[in-house]
Amino acid sequence: MTVKDSGGLDWSADIPVRRREPWLALHTKMKEPIRAGALDAGKMPALQIPKDAAAIILVRPDTDPTNPEIFWARRSTKLAFLGGFYAFPGGQREPSDIEAPVRHCNDPETAAMISCGARELFEEVGVLLARGAQTLTIGQRASLLDDLESKRLAWPELLNLYGLHLDASDFTFVGRWVTPPFAPRRFDTWFFLADCPAKQQPRITEDSELESGEWIRAGDAYERWQRSEVIAVPPVLHALKTLAAGLTADLVERFLSAPQARREPTRRIEFYPNYICFPVRTPTKPPATHTNCYLVYTSREILVIDPGSPYEDEQLALADCVDDLISQGRTVREIILTHVHPDHVAGVDGLNEHLTQKHGAAVPVAAHRLTAESLKNQVSVNRFVEDDEVLKLNGEPAIRLRALYTPGHARGHLCFYDERTGALISGDNIVGFGSVLIDPPEGNMREYLDSLRTMRLLPNLSVLFGGHGPAVANPYEKIDEYISHRLQREELILEAVREGASTPKEIVARAYTDVPTRAHSMAERAVLAHLKKLEDEGLVEQTSHGTYRAAQAND
Ligand SMILES: [Zn+2]
Repeated sequence: MTVKDSGGLDWSADIPVRRREPWLALHTKMKEPIRAGALDAGKMPALQIPKDAAAIILVRPDTDPTNPEIFWARRSTKLAFLGGFYAFPGGQREPSDIEAPVRHCNDPETAAMISCGARELFEEVGVLLARGAQTLTIGQRASLLDDLESKRLAWPELLNLYGLHLDASDFTFVGRWVTPPFAPRRFDTWFFLADCPAKQQPRITEDSELESGEWIRAGDAYERWQRSEVIAVPPVLHALKTLAAGLTADLVERFLSAPQARREPTRRIEFYPNYICFPVRTPTKPPATHTNCYLVYTSREILVIDPGSPYEDEQLALADCVDDLISQGRTVREIILTHVHPDHVAGVDGLNEHLTQKHGAAVPVAAHRLTAESLKNQVSVNRFVEDDEVLKLNGEPAIRLRALYTPGHARGHLCFYDERTGALISGDNIVGFGSVLIDPPEGNMREYLDSLRTMRLLPNLSVLFGGHGPAVANPYEKIDEYISHRLQREELILEAVREGASTPKEIVARAYTDVPTRAHSMAERAVLAHLKKLEDEGLVEQTSHGTYRAAQAND
């Protein structure tokens, strides 16, 4: 049986699991057919089906064609999805988009996506790319926008009422990119290049998901990314790089030369230069379906952090990417593990087998001592990484990663902090979406909160590269959110105990009313972790029957 992922990937029915040791077998037995069955039974989240979306790359009128100015914007840091990322105005398709009048376009699908892009552009930055709009005054355009945003008029109605129409020749199609399956929200985004009408100035509107925007030369924008000052998703980066080479005759061809611009899956994601996020499919905890492996590289060396997939096809895909970096003159220095969980370590042996076969030698594996202890007889760790140790990579740029011992999610958990760029590889302490499970005895809530506070104190944090999901470009907000979320939950748990709930099950029933019942057994694990912390703090005690009650005041 195959499960169709509309991103163009098929989950083939029988992918062999490379390792067969009892321990790994335990964690990797969920091979694809079982997964497919679980999907059918509704037990596992399916990969998110990408939703249609469109984005408009606006080019400034009379710009220098050798290094054109384009309009880019920063997404609000309050957004859960890609908050703080730099992007082009755009968004998700609405049902009525297909009804808008679009001339010179025979394909209804393309017409609908042009309409979607034009509507989003108008809604987010107030630029109306419609024929006939040139006779409208600024005030008239503002009132049209108000009609649209207040939903007095639907987009097609509005265009018709004011005698406006869209013309496909104003929109140059420059690619269609599908969000990799590691994200909680996935889009199949159509990108269009369009000239900004001379009399209109893009300005971030009140209801926009964008917090600021500006004209910038494509080359300057690309350089800002190269200096690790901005974070962007692969299609945005590709657009900046392509436009930086000028508005040449082969511009569209260059845009479409990337296979990912033709809906091929994006595997290698470089949110920051020299940090490749390479999500691999793993039997991980829902809602995640993938674990991020990170390849940190300089001109000479590569560090591989958390090669976690037990699946052979995924191990091969990762090995290809590593080979690519090696073929440019680099060597793999080490494989490093953030923590013990199988979805972070199950690809270590596979990668080392590949390196031995193809390049003549395996590389050392490094982890915290406690991780190495737990992995004994399963993955051999050759070197212990200590708290505060600095890993210096040879070559350019000078990358120094400071290891931070941050237990809580797992006993030997490590994060890695790059002081130069403010990037933090956060393992499973903070992830790009979903919540982090603290499952005792490996998990410890008090230590976890302490670790989050340690991370919060790091200066100049600019991005979190978590074990799952997209990078987090609003790190301090995200860490604060994690801490307050845990403390609020703990309040509810303590309240439940004080009101007489005495078992994790009873506590979950009272303190997790916002969580669907299918997640309640996981919630019970988290409750145990909170109870342990509350016990240590003298607020809760365990009775001789193993149940819990509020601690009696000692006075
Ligand atoms: Zn984990």
